[in-house]
Amino acid sequence: MTETPDIIYTKVDEAPELASASLLPIIRAFASKAGVNVETRNISLAGRVLAAFADLLPEGQKVSDDLAELGQLVKTPEANVIKLPNISASVPQLVAAIKELQGQGFALPDYPEEPATDAERDAKARYDAVKGSAVNPVLREGNSDRRAAKAVKAYAMANPHSMGTWSADSKTHVASMPGNDFFANEKSATITAAQAGGAKIVFTAADGSETVLKDGLKYIEGEVVDATFLSAKVLRAYIAQEIEAIEPGVLFSVHLKATMMKVSDPILFGHFVSVYLEDFIAKNGAKLDALGWNPNDGLGDLEARIKGDAGLEADLKAALAARPPLYMVDSGKGITNLHVPSDVIIDASMPAAIRAGGKGWGPDGEKADIKACIPDNCYAPVYDETINFFKANGALDPTTAGAVSNVGLMAQKAEEYGSHPTTFEMKADGVVRIVLASGEVLHEHAVETGDIWRSATAKKAPILDWIALGVARFKATGTAAFWLDATRAHDAELIKYVTPALAKAGVDIPIMAPREATAFTLAEQKKGKDVVTITGNVLRDYLTDLFPILELGTSAKMLSIVKLMNGGGMFETGAGGSAPKHVQQLVGENHLRWDSLGEFCALGESFKFLAETRGKAAAQVLGDAVDAATQKVLENGNSPEYKAGQNDNRTSHYWFARYWAEALAAQTEDAGLAAAFGPMAEALAADEAKIVAELMATQGSKADIGGYYNTDPAKMAAVMRPSTTLNAIIG
Ligand code: NAP
Repeated sequence: MTETPDIIYTKVDEAPELASASLLPIIRAFASKAGVNVETRNISLAGRVLAAFADLLPEGQKVSDDLAELGQLVKTPEANVIKLPNISASVPQLVAAIKELQGQGFALPDYPEEPATDAERDAKARYDAVKGSAVNPVLREGNSDRRAAKAVKAYAMANPHSMGTWSADSKTHVASMPGNDFFANEKSATITAAQAGGAKIVFTAADGSETVLKDGLKYIEGEVVDATFLSAKVLRAYIAQEIEAIEPGVLFSVHLKATMMKVSDPILFGHFVSVYLEDFIAKNGAKLDALGWNPNDGLGDLEARIKGDAGLEADLKAALAARPPLYMVDSGKGITNLHVPSDVIIDASMPAAIRAGGKGWGPDGEKADIKACIPDNCYAPVYDETINFFKANGALDPTTAGAVSNVGLMAQKAEEYGSHPTTFEMKADGVVRIVLASGEVLHEHAVETGDIWRSATAKKAPILDWIALGVARFKATGTAAFWLDATRAHDAELIKYVTPALAKAGVDIPIMAPREATAFTLAEQKKGKDVVTITGNVLRDYLTDLFPILELGTSAKMLSIVKLMNGGGMFETGAGGSAPKHVQQLVGENHLRWDSLGEFCALGESFKFLAETRGKAAAQVLGDAVDAATQKVLENGNSPEYKAGQNDNRTSHYWFARYWAEALAAQTEDAGLAAAFGPMAEALAADEAKIVAELMATQGSKADIGGYYNTDPAKMAAVMRPSTTLNAIIG
């Protein structure tokens, strides 16, 4: 058996993979001088496609299933993985990747949309396993620890981003449902030894007919199982009431997460669209049906379908004019908040509005106060209280505010985001039950047509691990709170775990409902104190945008650590994805604006974790020097810029390498390393002008990387490492 590498750096796709072609050789060269080996494993879309067909491909085309290997590794204490963002492939992307690989000579079958033979069914099953979010669920065998690296926070405090002003008479506010939402209807239970085992979700219609909505569920002892629903009728009445109640000059807006909550939230969005356009739909219903319009697809789709029908176009214009003005996603292009469901992303939109002093853009291109409709009370109070706080206290001051970090429950699909496989829109009135193998009914809800019912679970081991991580981060930080509401069914079950665990650990961390926790966190942060928010999975996602956007101006600079439950570590880089636009720019004009700050931060943590877990003292020295280099890149403005001809990813890597070498040469903990890096630091400084000129010289013309999904390593190296002087010094 081969020994587990010290650090595994993932091979991914698009912009971060381009950046790796330049950065990874630097990392490997530096690490090897300290006796640390860094290997790669391929989790790119192309790599996963090839691995899925390894047994059918001829010799020479077979690749190993690196994702499966990593999936095993993350369950061991040896894991130390730097995870870059990868493509979560849609069908068109998957088809494009297959086509490219076939063009490169790989004997892959086409993607069979409608398989007719056994071979096609087999191919489709293999491809479908590669599709969508296929990587993170396999690797996230731990809970989440997100914080700003010290260098990033220090830079943001010294160089504050722009902030809108808040005034006490701002009309901006959050409006949520008066009840009958997911929060109010939630039921939750912790599975006992006797209840553990199989389960199914069954719907019994008013006429007595039964439908099994989901079979084959399996619960284990100690697992917290929730069920809840949101009433469509109450939702619609609430939307109508909020439209009615809006004050003049205030923009109407809805904030959901239609991308991740991909079953429930597009339906909620559709209700907002259809209530907002109630009169228009009542008048033109038959025509709209004939055009095949579904309100869940939004106003943008409606406009496209009615184009050319002057009557409908005039009616729509009149209908919109009769309603309160809409908050705009892009006022320049006329894209409203109700245009496209995937544009409605609460964790981006609410922090942006709060940062801007509670303002959104109106259809007239002017900024105005907003009514922010957030139907569900599970998380609406967080935004409501944040707004109240800034109205009362004025905007956050990024130069003095403390750092708010998060410990989020996430492992083993805890509180699974959106709970896609167990969320249903009810097709009739009736009763939904979760029925255990014994026949016992665990939860039961009477529902009506159109209601959205969902179930989510969290297992005991991840919950206990999350509490322990929260305690550890509290001890390291000094101030923290568990964001749990004793009056919410699910949270009440979690509190049954948290209270004894805290007593056992001998620490006193307050447990507060999200509203109180928000007020507490903002007040402590205002005093300059660092605070840890210890939350469930959804608030993990939302708070790790809200606080960084207020403090740092962006959430893309956060350090994201997944402390694996069995002792290993995974370090996710950045908060964004794989930035396809950046690849277009590189191929078109040989400029890569990808910022590797996330990789720098993850790298520093990964080295320090290696020192801690394998006793490699030199790795600690490498990690500390990475932090110093990162801070200098920020302070000296060496991050990539937007346009061809400017500093880009490659020049930023040169500066990073230089500062890293300088920090290693200057440190006194490891004389051997200082001696090893002294000459390199000197050479990097002496040849600065030559190296920068060589790195910049290729910008402006087209670049050939030999593919999009499966690039050519030699061509990538030629494009991303154009300075022979730098390459010779790095070695
Ligand atoms: P995205 O890749 O985050 O890109 C959106 C924009 O964010 C970019 O165009 C860029 O803005 C900015 N950005 C993100 N990271 C950056 C960085 N390091 N440096 C500079 N700018 C950065 O979002 P997307 O287009 O929605 O997603 C692309 C792909 O990433 C999808 O396949 C998605 O599934 C995947 N994804 C993966 C993960 C993950 O693996 N953890 C997470 C999210 C998304 P400008 O172009 O304006 O500079």
